[in-house]
Amino acid sequence: MDKGICIVTENEEQTIAVGEKIAGVLQKGDVLVLKGDLGAGKTHFVKGIAKGVGSGELVTSPTFTILNVYEGGRVVINHFDMYRLSGKEEASELGFEEYFDRTTSNGASVVEWPEQVEGLIKPPYYEIEIKKTDKDEQRKIYFRRVTL
Ligand code: ADP
Ligand code: MG
Repeated sequence: MDKGICIVTENEEQTIAVGEKIAGVLQKGDVLVLKGDLGAGKTHFVKGIAKGVGSGELVTSPTFTILNVYEGGRVVINHFDMYRLSGKEEASELGFEEYFDRTTSNGASVVEWPEQVEGLIKPPYYEIEIKKTDKDEQRKIYFRRVTL
C-alpha cells in the first residue's frame, strides 16, 4: 500500500509543528487515524493539531478517559485513544460511531490506536503513521488519504 508523503522530524517540537500544519486541512466531519507504537509521538502530534486549529485547550493523553474534546478553535477536535478499549462493541456502546460519521459529528476526530476499532471508521479518512528510526529523537511521519 502507498505510504503517502513522508516527513522526518528530529524532536518533539518538530512533530508538533507538523501536526499544526496538517490541522489546516481538517474540517468538521473529518477523521484522522494515528498509527504508531507506544511513545512514537501520536499524542504530541495531536498537541500540534489542537494548536493548529486554534484551540488553547491543554492536550493530554486520553488513555483512561478514551476521549478528550478540545474546543475554542476553528473546528472541535475529538481526541480518542482506543488503547484500553475492549473492542468495537464497546466503542458502539459508548456511541462513538456518531463521531466517525460526517453527517452527525460535532467536529474532527483524531484517533490513536484505530486498530482497536477496525471497521468502525470507514473511508474516506486521513491516516498518519509515526515511526521511530534508529536515531533517538527522530521520527518518520507518513501521511496519506484513504479513500474507498
Ligand atoms: P504516543 O502517543 O505515540 O504514545 P507520546 O506523544 O505520548 O507518544 O510520546 C512521545 C515521546 O517521545 C515523548 O516523550 C516525546 O518527548 C518523545 N519524542 C522524542 N522525539 C520525538 C519526536 N521527533 N516526535 C515526537 N515525540 C518525540
Ligand atoms: Mg498517545
